[in-house]
Amino acid sequence: MIELINISKRYKNGVMALSNINLKIEKGEFVFLVGPSGAGKSTIIKMLLKEVKPTQGRIIIDNEDITHIHRRKVPYLRRKVGVVFQDFRLLPNKTVYENVAFAMEIIEAAGKEIRKQVPMVLSMVGLSNKAKMYPNQLSGGEQQRVSIARAIVNNPPILIADEPTGNLDPETSWEIMKLLRMVNRRGTTVVMATHAKDIVDMMQQRVIALEKGQVVRDDKKGGYGYED
Ligand code: ADP
Ligand code: ADP
Repeated sequence: MIELINISKRYKNGVMALSNINLKIEKGEFVFLVGPSGAGKSTIIKMLLKEVKPTQGRIIIDNEDITHIHRRKVPYLRRKVGVVFQDFRLLPNKTVYENVAFAMEIIEAAGKEIRKQVPMVLSMVGLSNKAKMYPNQLSGGEQQRVSIARAIVNNPPILIADEPTGNLDPETSWEIMKLLRMVNRRGTTVVMATHAKDIVDMMQQRVIALEKGQVVRDDKKGGYGYED
């Protein structure tokens, strides 16, 4: 589902953020990306979103080489890769419903499809009764559920989550993890970068650890492995 082949990234200032990364993530996997600050987690995630170009190597997503796809085709990539951020990144002037619908409008989905799909995903994340609210009227956990709804509304085969629980208290974090696990059980490949030791230890999923731009550990069912 995701393959990084010989990926290296050197930023303009000379920092070698990734050195020769080789990774293969199969359909339906749930993968934690861990490692100290500066290890290269964000760089990998940004590459999968086409926000950062590799200096060397190839990126395959859903059997397609996206290394050189044109910027113009990035919206098309959004059908394949949904994304959830630590800071939610909802549009403040749109309602919950409109935030989710917007993700479908961007890929030019039909109105009929939008009117069917948006209520369906809002119900999945338990927010049917908040459809008309604005993000600032919601708790952090609710905002993150909206952002998950937005990320999955186009049924992407891959969901990327960058520190999705970083702004949430432990209890709310677990609600978000339950949702991500449910999305995963429905067949979506989930890749989550995190510093949440308790969550990684408890979930016992695949753990890929990065340090100084290299993969230093890849456990089929692992724990966090750091003390912070
Ligand atoms: P992590 O997400 O694991 O904290 P990053 O991928 O953000 O790691 O960073 C990896 C390395 O690349 C770090 O040394 C960081 O300082 C550097 N880096 C990240 N982004 C940039 C950038 N835009 N320009 C220069 N260096 C960067
Ligand atoms: P949590 O303790 O889970 O962070 P909050 O205390 O922020 O939740 O909110 C509790 C409930 O009140 C949530 O369902 C939220 O949607 C609702 N709520 C919070 N702030 C507002 C607001 N300004 N307007 C309307 N509803 C709100």
